[in-house]
This record gives sequence, C-alpha cells and structure tokens, in this order.
Amino acid sequence: MLPGHEGPKLKVVIVGGGTAGWMAAALLSQTFKGKLVDVTLVESDAIGTIGVGEATIPAIRRFNRLLEVHERDFIAATQATFKLGIEFVNWGKVGTSYIHPFGNIGKPIGRTGFEHYLTRRRLEGHTENFETYSLNAMAARADRFNIPPRDGSLLSELAYAYHFDAGLYAAFLRRYAEARGVRRVEGKIGHVGQDADSGHVTSLHLEDGQTVDGEFFIDCSGLSGLLIEKTLGSGYEDWSHWLPCDRAGFVPSESAPSITPYTRSTAHSAGWQWRIPLQHRIGNGHVFSSGFMGDDEAGDLLLETLDQKPLAEPKFLRFQTGRRKLSWNRNVVAIGLSSGFLEPLESTSIHLIHSGLVKLLDYWPDRTFNPLLSAQYNRVMETQYQSIRDFIILHYKATDREDSAFWKYCRFMDVPDSLACKMDHFRSSSRIVLAPGELFQPASWLAVLIGQNVLPTGYDPLSDIHETAAVDDTLRRLAAAIRHAVDTMPTHRQVLESLRY
Ligand SMILES: Cc1cc2nc3c(=O)[nH]c(=O)nc-3n(C[C@H](O)[C@H](O)[C@H](O)COP(=O)(O)OP(=O)(O)OC[C@H]3O[C@@H](n4cnc5c(N)ncnc54)[C@H](O)[C@@H]3O)c2cc1C
Repeated sequence: MLPGHEGPKLKVVIVGGGTAGWMAAALLSQTFKGKLVDVTLVESDAIGTIGVGEATIPAIRRFNRLLEVHERDFIAATQATFKLGIEFVNWGKVGTSYIHPFGNIGKPIGRTGFEHYLTRRRLEGHTENFETYSLNAMAARADRFNIPPRDGSLLSELAYAYHFDAGLYAAFLRRYAEARGVRRVEGKIGHVGQDADSGHVTSLHLEDGQTVDGEFFIDCSGLSGLLIEKTLGSGYEDWSHWLPCDRAGFVPSESAPSITPYTRSTAHSAGWQWRIPLQHRIGNGHVFSSGFMGDDEAGDLLLETLDQKPLAEPKFLRFQTGRRKLSWNRNVVAIGLSSGFLEPLESTSIHLIHSGLVKLLDYWPDRTFNPLLSAQYNRVMETQYQSIRDFIILHYKATDREDSAFWKYCRFMDVPDSLACKMDHFRSSSRIVLAPGELFQPASWLAVLIGQNVLPTGYDPLSDIHETAAVDDTLRRLAAAIRHAVDTMPTHRQVLESLRY
C-alpha cells in the first residue's frame, strides 16, 4: 500500500447536524459502505439548527439518486411538494410578475439560440411573453404537474425540484446515515484541540466532558464556522455591498387549498418575501436589509402579506452574504453555511452543500493531506460561488425601481465586472455568455434578464437565415404543443395525493 493509505480506517468527524451535516453523513455512508472511513457526527440539541432552507433546484434529484432514495419515500418523509421554478413579483417594476422556470425556454432554430429569435420578433413588433414557450412556466401558472415520462416527448422535458420541510429532511437523512453506521454524538463543543506543529484539528472537547478524536473534519457548524473560522481563522470575503440583505424574519402559515408548484418571491421596499408551499404548511420569510428597514417593520410586513393564517410568531436571524476565503483549510473542509452564504433568492445553498460534497469525494485525501487537493478544491468552490453570486446580483441590479432608498441603491450600484460583461453582451446582441461549469444555464439568465426588462437592441445575424414566416410557424407550433401538454397534466395536488401511502 502507498504511504498515507495504510493503517486503520480514517477517522472522519462531521461537526453539525443540520441539513449540511446529515447530507454529508448520508453521502459518506453510502459512498464508503463501511470501508476505509469511520464517520462520527457531533451535534448540539441546545444550539439546534437554523431551521430554514426548504426550496431546492433540480440537482437535488441527483443527490437523491446518489443515495438511492425512492422519490415516494422521500416525499412522504419530508412533506415535500414539487417545484417547477420561481415566480418573481415586483422585481423589475412594481406590478410585474414573471416565472424563472427550470428547464428550457423555446428551442434553438438551426444553430441559433431562442433568445435571438425572441429579440428579433420583438424588434419586428410582436408583443409576447417568453413564458408561452416554457413548459415549466405554463404548467406552473396552471398549477399543473406530472412526473415526466422517459419517452422523449415534450412532457419528458418538464424539469423539477422539491420544496421540503428542513427539519424532516435532516431527520430523514439521519435515519439513513445511522442505519449505515454513522455514529452520532450529542453535546456542545466547548474547546477544539489542535496539533502544535501543523495546526491540524485533532479533537473536539464537549462541555459534558466527552472527547471526540478525528483525523479529517467536515465543518457543518452553520454560520458560526466553528472549526473553519473560529479555530483556523480562514477569513471571509464579504459581498454585502452587492447583496445588501443581511436579515430574515420567517414564519410558517396554514396550507392553502391549491398547492402551487413553485416558490414565490415578492419584492418589498427593502428586500423580498418567500412563499414555499409544503404539503402540511407554507413556509414564509422576509429577507431584508437592516440598513434600510428595522425588524418591527419587516415583521409586520411579513405578517400583513401572508395569504394564510400564521402558525407562530416570526423568528429573526442575521447573516452576512459572502464566502469563506478557504473552504478547505488544513484537515478541515467547510460545507454548508460554514463555507459561506448567498442569500436564498435562487435556492442555491442546499445545492452548494451537494456540490461541495461531490467535489470533496473527487479530491478525497489520504493521511498525507496533499495541499494540491485542498488548493484545487478551493479553486473549484470559489468559481461556483462567484458565478451563482453574479446571477443573484442580477435580480437586484436589473430593475427600474426607484421607489425606495434600497431599490435606488441596487439600481445604481456597481456590479462585478464578470456580471457587467454578461449584461453588456445581452443588451447589445442577445448573447448569453457563460464560463464553463456555470450552474445557471442560458434559459435561467434569459428569464431573469427579460423578466426584469433588460431588452437587447441586437441579435445574432445568423438567425436571419430563417424566413420570418418559418420562424412564426415554428414558434406557433411550439406554443400550441406546450398548451396541449399542460392541458393533459393533472393538478399538483392530485399528483401529491396519488403518491400518498
Ligand atoms: C433566511 C434563510 C433562508 C434559506 N432558504 C434556503 C432555501 O430556500 N434553499 C436552500 O437551498 N437554502 C436555503 N437557506 C440555506 C439553508 O438553510 C442552509 O444551507 C442549510 O440549512 C444548511 O445549514 P447548515 O447545516 O450549514 O447549518 P445549521 O442548520 O445551522 O446547522 C449547524 C449545526 O451545527 C451544530 N453546532 C454548531 N455549533 C456547535 C457546537 N459548538 N457544538 C456542537 N454542535 C454545534 C448545530 O447544533 C447544528 O446541528 C436559507 C438560509 C437562510 C438564512
């Protein structure tokens, strides 16, 4: 055996039992199948978890597939509903609404992307809503859903994710991981032991006197960053000048008669409000900037705008948008909120947990902890965070709103060069210019740009190869096929009822 590979199983310790900690425990237990590593998870009932984080993007289904979890079991255990996209209300302008759908919008014609035809048609005088050409958006607006068949039909293109109860999800993953050998230790970590020479973390000392030794630590301790920051001082890159929301109030409310298959995000005067429908309740929260609004006003606004009766008093929490400068430092890897936080506008945090874990498996270390691995991991995670950050900033920047100090700030703020360049390309030629590996694909950028009234003045000249009448005909047929496909779908509630045990 190679040096570094020999010896007993590697002692892996996960700090934290929130969504990140139990996702890590579940994936490691499934991947290693009891070999090579011993996994212990430490969590504190007294500290608890953040208790929010209930909307996802379609990649969550890949995570479930990695765990070989059956969709029906998962839905039953977490009170999940299906999500086809996000409705954005009042973002570009008060009184507007558009859906950022998962999946395709339109289809390329020849080798030219649909976005160019949309511009060409607008410049030719057509007034049309891009949602007409999105199966997801049209189904969402009609409260319809169908588990897509795998038959290559239009219906098979429906892309979906879930809304689920964060507490039930962590409990579900805990049962999964413990059944596969993960050891859980309950207690509050008071002191962290480090090797005097390397600075590596060696042990966790709990306030009740227990000690947990380890060789490789996954820090899922949430916003506090217990190991990655408090112990190792990895540093934090603050992005709040671009994403000024830093506080959230949240409250559950009763279910509504119709369970909408999408998240709603409604912009207010100093932030925005989410509405996430689950089977047994609706999750609601108001994300706002404390520099522009106080807790009392934000809480009142949240309660006044609920469409159903609240089930509790609002709770509040503070966050700072940004990322840890090093996600992997020495023998500690931060996953989840300990590695950074981009506000929840596009439901990307749980995805970043998933992708952080998969990348960690790609660069899994042996006992020598080759620094090349951590350096590569940190580069990959930095790129991921930055591209998602730019997409989220776009929602604030691309606005005509000037009705509050917050929106004036957002409208006129400088944005990262990487985003400014994308917006310039789109405005001038309808091109959506992406770097390799970006999470959000052209359809997502198109929805937000057009949905928030960034209208290009030009388009790809190659699209002129196709005659106007032929383009009109192609689009008319596509819109009709989408309308027909939506008409054949049952309601979202009917699908959920059919999945009940
Ligand atoms: C307002 C808001 C809304 C969000 N909405 C979404 C969303 O819709 N979609 C999405 O993908 N994400 C969302 N997120 C992010 C999502 O909530 C998190 O990514 C997810 O919950 C993971 O959290 P975590 O496990 O990293 O941290 P936590 O849930 O905070 O868990 C931390 C764990 O560490 C333990 N711990 C901490 N310190 C100690 C100690 N000293 N000793 C022992 N144990 C300790 C705690 O007990 C706990 O078990 C949202 C976040 C916020 C703030």
